[in-house]
Amino acid sequence: MISRDSAARYADLADRTLAAALSEEDRAEARGLDPFERRTCHTHRRWLHHCIASPVHVVVVTGHRWCRDCACPAAVVVDELAGDVRMYCPSCGRMPDGPANRQVLRACRASLASARCFRLRGPASPAA
Ligand SMILES: [Zn+2]
Ligand SMILES: [Zn+2]
Repeated sequence: MISRDSAARYADLADRTLAAALSEEDRAEARGLDPFERRTCHTHRRWLHHCIASPVHVVVVTGHRWCRDCACPAAVVVDELAGDVRMYCPSCGRMPDGPANRQVLRACRASLASARCFRLRGPASPAA
């Protein structure tokens, strides 16, 4: 019943790879997966690299997307063509290095890689 509810939550998503990854990671998170290791975003129902720019993804306490030196949110730049993700602080211009921000970059790169797989394969055919 729990997994049915989870799948229903994403039933309207056109990207079925995303929908499957979302419900898979919802279940993994319920079993103890670190939410910051997710490739998908439960809040926005998107691949993480598509919504990481949202202020929701700035977590001051843990230092995710946060420059502690300047006490301001860090910006994330996603290069979908190159498959790369970078972060910088708009105030000091540096990458605010630390375990939390490295985790953000790692999760965004994993998200980007998963979404690229989907694009290369294309959506599942209606017959499948
Ligand atoms: Zn999000
Ligand atoms: Zn800074």
